[in-house]
Amino acid sequence: MQFNMEDIVDSMEGITYLTDTGGMIFAIGRRHWNRFAADNDGLGLVDGSGVLGHSLFDFISGDDVRDRYRHFLSAIISHRVGRARLLSRCDSPAVERELMITVTPIYAGDTIEGVLWQSLTIGETIRPRLDLFDFAQQRRLAADGLKSWPILGMCSYCQDVRFPAGSCDADGAWISAEDYYHRGGDSRVRISHGLCPDCFEDADAALCA
Ligand SMILES: [Zn+2]
Repeated sequence: MQFNMEDIVDSMEGITYLTDTGGMIFAIGRRHWNRFAADNDGLGLVDGSGVLGHSLFDFISGDDVRDRYRHFLSAIISHRVGRARLLSRCDSPAVERELMITVTPIYAGDTIEGVLWQSLTIGETIRPRLDLFDFAQQRRLAADGLKSWPILGMCSYCQDVRFPAGSCDADGAWISAEDYYHRGGDSRVRISHGLCPDCFEDADAALCA
């Protein structure tokens, strides 16, 4: 029996894809990917159209977050570490969702020929709806009127937000989205992804031997 790379990533749990050592996506696990695309108003991306052949980094929002993923990739392809593994959140409006993301090199002999990226959902908690996590609506509104709304920084890892909306780098307090609403925060904001100081702190914490 013969398998190819696509069959293997297609069979894996979670959102799974393969990149080359420069971050170009060349295979995705279609079964889980298509459900993810449908749930996230990204139907244009079914079967990886618009994704295959593109750089992973084109799809990561926030300079800090993109730099962090580049750091993982370069640590792996330089053989400095065996893999990277981090906990992250990927909430939708009514679901708090915890992910385990692993980044693993694929060897052919002694050479790293590609990198496997896998995001597994390890916990989901249903909660009252929080509009801040309706990113599809954010994109729809971006066309009209949204430009005048203040920017709200959101941490890509823990999904805390910087209160109040419109705070600049040095000021504002990082709090949970629930606390944001308790403190009178409004949904009419533009989300800007980055990393909060706690999650920014140790770039090497996710790297494993
Ligand atoms: Zn954070």
